[in-house]
Amino acid sequence: MGKRASYAVKVRADEISLRKGNAPPLASLDLELTERCNNNCIHCYINLPAEDLNARQRELSTREIREILQEAVSLGCLTVRFTGGEPLLREDFEDLYIFSRKLGLRVILLTNATLITPALSKVFARVPLLQPIEVTVYGMRRNSYEAVSRVAGSFEAAWHGIHVLLEQKVPFVVKGALLPPNREEMEEFASWAATVPWVENPLSYSIFFDLRARRDSGHKNISIKKLRLSPEEVVAFFFRRREEYLREMREFCSQFTRPSGKGIFSCGAGVGSGCVDAYGYFQLCMLLRQPATVYDLKKGSLKDALINFFPRIREIQTENPDYLNRCACCFLQGLCEQCPARSWMEHGTLDTPVAYHCEIAHAQARALGLLEEGELAWQIVQWQERIRNFSEGKPVCQKKAVQNSGHVRGVDIEPTMEKSRKSE
Ligand code: SF4
Ligand code: SF4
Repeated sequence: MGKRASYAVKVRADEISLRKGNAPPLASLDLELTERCNNNCIHCYINLPAEDLNARQRELSTREIREILQEAVSLGCLTVRFTGGEPLLREDFEDLYIFSRKLGLRVILLTNATLITPALSKVFARVPLLQPIEVTVYGMRRNSYEAVSRVAGSFEAAWHGIHVLLEQKVPFVVKGALLPPNREEMEEFASWAATVPWVENPLSYSIFFDLRARRDSGHKNISIKKLRLSPEEVVAFFFRRREEYLREMREFCSQFTRPSGKGIFSCGAGVGSGCVDAYGYFQLCMLLRQPATVYDLKKGSLKDALINFFPRIREIQTENPDYLNRCACCFLQGLCEQCPARSWMEHGTLDTPVAYHCEIAHAQARALGLLEEGELAWQIVQWQERIRNFSEGKPVCQKKAVQNSGHVRGVDIEPTMEKSRKSE
C-alpha cells in the first residue's frame, strides 16, 4: 500500500509490484502437449510411442489448447511451459507457439531437440520465446545417447537440433540426466555446456528418477529403480560443489525444512500454478496424476479448479499411521523429495513414505551434520535448534558430520505398508 494523500494515492517506486498483495489466480502454467515421444528413454516416467494413435486421438485439439491459453491469460498467467513427451511432435506446435506469444505469454519449451529444424529455429529467432529453451542432453556420443534414448539416429537428430539453435542464436540451456550410460561423461558434458552462451552454472541434472506417473508399467518401474543413484552417490554428487552446496542448504533449511503435520502437501503445487495434461486434465503439478486429484477441464474451467478444486485437494489430511509416525513429525520435510505425487507413483497412495527418498534425505542430513549416525529424523524433538545452528554455520551434532556417508545403517526405514505388501 502506498501513503495516502487527500487527493491521490502515492506509491513509491520501490513499493511497486505487479503482484504485491494481489497475486493472480494463475501465474504460470505447464501445458503437456502430448505424452508421446520420438525417444524411448530408459528412465522416462511418462512417454508413449510417437505413433500411438489412440493417445494422439485423445489429445486436446488446437482449438481446445487455444481456449485454455486464453483463459490462463485472463487469470493473470504470464508464462506457459510447453512440455511432453516431446512437444514438438504436435503438428500444430508452431501455431500454438505463435498464438501464445501473441497473447503476451513468455514461453518455456522443454525438448529433446531432435525435431528442431532450421525453419522452426528461424521462427524462434523472429519471435523470441523470452526464456531460453531447455534441452535435455542424454549423452555426448552416439553409444551413450542411444543407450538412453533407445532410438537409432536420435543422437544425430538431437545434436543437429542443438547446432541449428546455435546457428540461429536462439537462446537455450542444457540439462543432463545422470544415467549409467553417460555417467562417465559428466566432465565432457560440463566443458561443452560451458561453451553454450546462455548456460549458467551450476549445470542442471536430473538425478532422481521417478517411476511411471500413470502407474502403467510394473516392468518399466523395475528398470527405472535400477538406474537410480545410491544415497551415497547422491550425497557425493551434491558435495562435488561442497561450499556452494553448504551455503545453499543453510539458507534452504532455515526456510523450508519443518514437519508437515497431518497435511500431505508441504509444497506449493496448485497455488498459482498447475499442469494441464495432454487430454485436458488439470493437475496440481506435472507429476501428480492420481485420478481423484485431477480436474477435467472439458467439464469446467481453470478458474474453478484453482479457486475451488485445488484448495480442497491441498487440505487433504492423512490418517495413515506410517505417514503420521514419520513424515508428519519429520523435520527433513522440504529437504526430502517425498511428496504425494511420488507416494502415488511408488505405492498407489498419496501418503506413504517413499523409502528411497527417505534414505537419501537421511544420508544428506548426516553429511550436512544435521543427524548423527543411526538417528531418525522423525524422532528428533529439538530440530529447530539444529536447523538454527546449522543455518548459522555452528556445530549441530556432537559427532563430526560424516560426508558422503550412505544409507541409514542398522535402521529399518521401509514403511510397514510396503513390507506388508511384500509379504503378501
Ligand atoms: S526425450 Fe524426454 S519425454 Fe522423451 S522419452 Fe526421453 S525423457 Fe521421456
Ligand atoms: S525423510 Fe523419511 S520420514 Fe522424513 S519426510 Fe522424508 S520420507 Fe518422510
